[in-house]
Amino acid sequence: MSNDHVAAHDLTVRTTGDHETPRVTTPVTLSVRPHRLDGGDTLDGTSMPTSGPLIDRYGRIHRDLRISITDRCNLRCVYCMSEDMVFQPREELLTFDELVRVARVARDLGVTSMRLTGGEPLVRRGVVDLVARLGELGVEDLALTTNATRLAPLAVPLKAAGLTRVNISCDSLRVDRFASIRRRGDLTTVLRAMDEAESAGLAPLKVNVVLLRGINDDEILDFARFARTTGRIVRFIEFMPLDAPGQWDRDRLVAGRDVWATVNAVWPLEPVDEPGRVAPAERFRFVDGVGEIGLISTVTQPFCGTCDRLRLTSDGSIRNCLFSDDEHALRDLLRTGCDDDAIQLVLRRAVWNKFPGHAINETDFLRPHRSMSMIGG
Ligand code: SAM
Ligand code: SF4
Repeated sequence: MSNDHVAAHDLTVRTTGDHETPRVTTPVTLSVRPHRLDGGDTLDGTSMPTSGPLIDRYGRIHRDLRISITDRCNLRCVYCMSEDMVFQPREELLTFDELVRVARVARDLGVTSMRLTGGEPLVRRGVVDLVARLGELGVEDLALTTNATRLAPLAVPLKAAGLTRVNISCDSLRVDRFASIRRRGDLTTVLRAMDEAESAGLAPLKVNVVLLRGINDDEILDFARFARTTGRIVRFIEFMPLDAPGQWDRDRLVAGRDVWATVNAVWPLEPVDEPGRVAPAERFRFVDGVGEIGLISTVTQPFCGTCDRLRLTSDGSIRNCLFSDDEHALRDLLRTGCDDDAIQLVLRRAVWNKFPGHAINETDFLRPHRSMSMIGG
């Protein structure tokens, strides 16, 4: 079977190969099983604070909220969804009033960065109004991650509503392959949407590429060239065990350090130093000054030690980690007339209970019950 005909079951095919290359960076704290304590205290007896910023037991202050506004999507990417995904009934999703309320409380607790995601956030009706309402909260950064199939006509209104940045997913620069990986949608529409987003002022654009060995890893240099010629920041993402069909296979994953070695051999790279910056992507610019790429090596080089994110699922639960089933339900609380203090407490508890790191690389790792699109990637 050709690489250009990707069927979901193909993801279980095992491949071999020695791709050892030098480490790109110093690894951060490796995944560790948590010490779960009753009573909410740390090992040294510190209690969960009831004022100040959102902080966990390990001292990580949380300033980044990912808001999933729907679990629905108009595509079915092979690494994310199955063809027969069952979506949540609409009444189980948070309303915009509920979403904005949680976001406001999070802002009051020190969240400065918000990102809308899903599912596909642009399939939810009224998304521009939602962005405008979130924009009124005055956070520093209000961004969106999208498959861009519906972005082109919305780029100008979204920018006018207060959106600051957009990340666009695009896993192939070849028309046929794009279609087979994403199963629906087409590359031309997505490329046009990138142009529209830039014209609307949503720049610099970040382009997310999930690499799958044997499927699109022969496009690493094409994407690097794309970054150089367009000025868009291409971010190579490691395949994570969060696909709905449950076919994640470590041998399908392309390690960030392998991507670095492939690109660096042709166009030498240097790290972009940003003291104090908290982000999952390691940034590298081309030494000749033309463009930049990012590596999101969630599996092989976890960045848990500096993670400052929490997530609000579309059905109203707070999750403190993509890879943990630890969820703190808010929806019923919101619908029974709680006050803001009650929401604050849920957010604080969710952060306080965060594990020190994900356990993907441990032998007893269990996949989370919810897949990426149900959590909000
Ligand atoms: N639908 C939007 C999109 O595709 O950009 C936003 C939601 S999507 C779940 C967010 C990001 O997660 C995308 O960049 C997508 O490529 C990535 N993603 C989905 N499943 C993944 C997986 N199993 N491993 C790594 N990244 C994944
Ligand atoms: Fe949809 Fe995004 Fe998942 Fe693809 S990655 S199926 S576009 S939610």
